[in-house]
Amino acid sequence: SSFAHFGFDEQLMHQIRKSEYTQPTPIQCQGVPVALSGRDMIGIAKTGSGKTAAFIWPMLIHIMDQKELEPGDGPIAVIVCPTRELCQQIHAECKRFGKAYNLRSVAVYGGGSMWEQAKALQEGAEIVVCTPGRLIDHVKKKATNLQRVSYLVFDEADRMFDMGFEYQVRSIASHVRPDRQTLLFSATFRKKIEKLARDILMDPIRVVQ
Ligand code: AMP
Repeated sequence: SSFAHFGFDEQLMHQIRKSEYTQPTPIQCQGVPVALSGRDMIGIAKTGSGKTAAFIWPMLIHIMDQKELEPGDGPIAVIVCPTRELCQQIHAECKRFGKAYNLRSVAVYGGGSMWEQAKALQEGAEIVVCTPGRLIDHVKKKATNLQRVSYLVFDEADRMFDMGFEYQVRSIASHVRPDRQTLLFSATFRKKIEKLARDILMDPIRVVQ
């Protein structure tokens, strides 16, 4: 398969070419069309599979469509992941590809400065990449709000559960409008993840790496 099948515009293709990817990975080939269609998705994929771009590219297109429909503040897309390192990596990819449309990304994670993160959130961003507890802290302090969020990603869900973030993950899902698009990525698909998927996704399509 090739990138041409995705139907991305020239601005996004330009950023993809700059990254020197020659062809989409299997999870991208299968996942991108599903995510572009607006359906909820379960992605069973490990780090190294190219899963991050598989949810970022459709996210950028979703944001551009949504921005026109619903001007305002607060992020349109939220990506929830288990660790600071992953947060920073995903944020870097959001910035890289988000350049295609001048979209802004903010990373908020435990261990970083609350004040600096709050300031960045208040300056405005269409994309927030976060660890679960820290996002909830910022919402409670009204540094941001989830009212405009309509694209929600949970990355490495199994690892978030292992780290004891199930309550926070479910809490975030319950605070985002029900007509959102939700994508759930996990390296494994255990009973607890299956149950989470049943609870927070609607009629999802399953894509396996
Ligand atoms: P991920 O699984 O999302 O953590 O991605 C693993 C690495 O693969 C990252 O360094 C990406 O920049 C890179 N990558 C993602 N998609 C592609 C692609 N289509 N071709 C080559 N490298 C890629």
